[in-house]
Amino acid sequence: MTSRICPKPGCPNFIPIGAKRCKTCQAAWDKARGSNTERGYTAEHFRRGAKAKAEATRKKLRCELCSKPMLPGQELHFDHETPLAVDRSSRASRVLHASCNASAGGRLAHNLPPKPGGPDGQPPRAGSTAP
Ligand SMILES: [Zn+2]
Ligand SMILES: [Zn+2]
Repeated sequence: MTSRICPKPGCPNFIPIGAKRCKTCQAAWDKARGSNTERGYTAEHFRRGAKAKAEATRKKLRCELCSKPMLPGQELHFDHETPLAVDRSSRASRVLHASCNASAGGRLAHNLPPKPGGPDGQPPRAGSTAP
């Protein structure tokens, strides 16, 4: 039998193998982290997002959805390539126009059903640039 004690300072509870913290602390943790985190939007996400957006506009990278360059002053989204609904550990990895991300192509990219009759006849992204 191996059991560990909860890593939270002062917490006397034992935790099951593989768990990060005891149930009580996990509940408190989840609550403290709030809804953003539930959706995968952690502080790290925002930090990486700000950096990725800055880089995208500096290099004038093209939006994967509309193939137009992303320019300073445009509203951009830092997007999860794998929808969080599919993989909660997915990390955001690309920058898109905010408007495109919400468009038919964006819906497609998120495996949401496209709106019927949409003009989106483009094939899914060909070849990812991300390592
Ligand atoms: Zn605990
Ligand atoms: Zn775009």
